[in-house]
Amino acid sequence: MKTEKKFIPLLVPDLYNEDIESAVAVLKSGMLVQGTNVENFEKEICEITGAKFAAAVSNGTATLHLILHALGIGEGDEVIVPAYSYIATANVVELVGAKPVFVDIQLETCNIDVNLIEEKITGKTKAIMPVHEFGMAANLEKIQNLCTKYNLFLIEDAACALGGEFEGKPIGFNSFAASFSFHPRKAVTSGEGGMVVSNDENLINQIKVLRNHGMSLNSDRMDFELPGFNYRLTDFQAALVLSQLTRLSEQLSAKRKLASVYFKNLNPDYFTLPTIPSYTQHAWQSFHVILNSQIDRDNFIVRLRQAGIGSNLGAQCMPAMQYFQNKYKLNCRQEFPNAWQAYQNGLVLPIYTPLQESDIQYITEVVNTTARKIIHGE
Ligand SMILES: *Cc1c(COP(=O)(O)O)cnc(C)c1O
Repeated sequence: MKTEKKFIPLLVPDLYNEDIESAVAVLKSGMLVQGTNVENFEKEICEITGAKFAAAVSNGTATLHLILHALGIGEGDEVIVPAYSYIATANVVELVGAKPVFVDIQLETCNIDVNLIEEKITGKTKAIMPVHEFGMAANLEKIQNLCTKYNLFLIEDAACALGGEFEGKPIGFNSFAASFSFHPRKAVTSGEGGMVVSNDENLINQIKVLRNHGMSLNSDRMDFELPGFNYRLTDFQAALVLSQLTRLSEQLSAKRKLASVYFKNLNPDYFTLPTIPSYTQHAWQSFHVILNSQIDRDNFIVRLRQAGIGSNLGAQCMPAMQYFQNKYKLNCRQEFPNAWQAYQNGLVLPIYTPLQESDIQYITEVVNTTARKIIHGE
């Protein structure tokens, strides 16, 4: 008889009673939308990232959409994005009417391969939008140099990277535009939520106008200067996430320890572990590995679930998704071999508080054994 093992999900938001109580307090106050908690949330994210200005919006996709829209990027323009990310990165470029130009990733980091960007820059290119995949910074210095050389906007999809660092500075520090998400799959959550940070006050003011129907920020009489969206965040969502932010750095160091258990224990014959360049501190939104090509990833996910462990594929090879495939007809295996491989063989494993090092130890044992069994046809 096997004893019933507990199931370890891929991710559960680490909400404390005090987080929930602070959201409930806002609900009881009756002031539900965009109030003092949203403002304090913006201030706190500036505090954490060192950014000068911030605007909270309804989710991480809305933030990216607003940045592109505010910059006037649209019809006839091109935006360079990695071929491998969550689909929202490419969708927002399409939604403003511009063309996403995909660049392959480096398999070791799953981030955009900076050596392949320049050849994709044309007279139509307006921006480069790197993703800090799974919470690890892309090579911002190299990308910034290209943006300066060709006069392009650098827009960071930092959805997963709150708390991560580049060259000793927090992601979002001194950025022209960086976008964070607070979806439950990210480190701290408001349910749905997003934040743009920038060192450019005009950009943030423009976004604050656009998120609220185009309403002017400073006029005495209510007036609307632009056709805007309703991309506001509610105040109880802001209260929920604000309360969690006090634990962010302690949570990060705990996750760093969990990651080190994966590094120590995962069998390198079966799994390629991420390479962390010296310029970055990983925020560990996900622990992502590439499976040995003898292992069928989807089957592996099923076998792990049966063994009591939640896992999933990491991200998509975006140009291979139906809409983009039909529109651009790119040969992804040939043009983006690394994005394709990460999409086929990539796997994310649980890494979150309150999991303990002993839990990760247990997960690695199960994961190694499952891989060995699959390879030996057991
Ligand atoms: C989560 C995520 C998004 C979208 O954020 P939402 O808040 O879910 O809209 C965009 N880009 C990347 C890389 C993400 O991981």
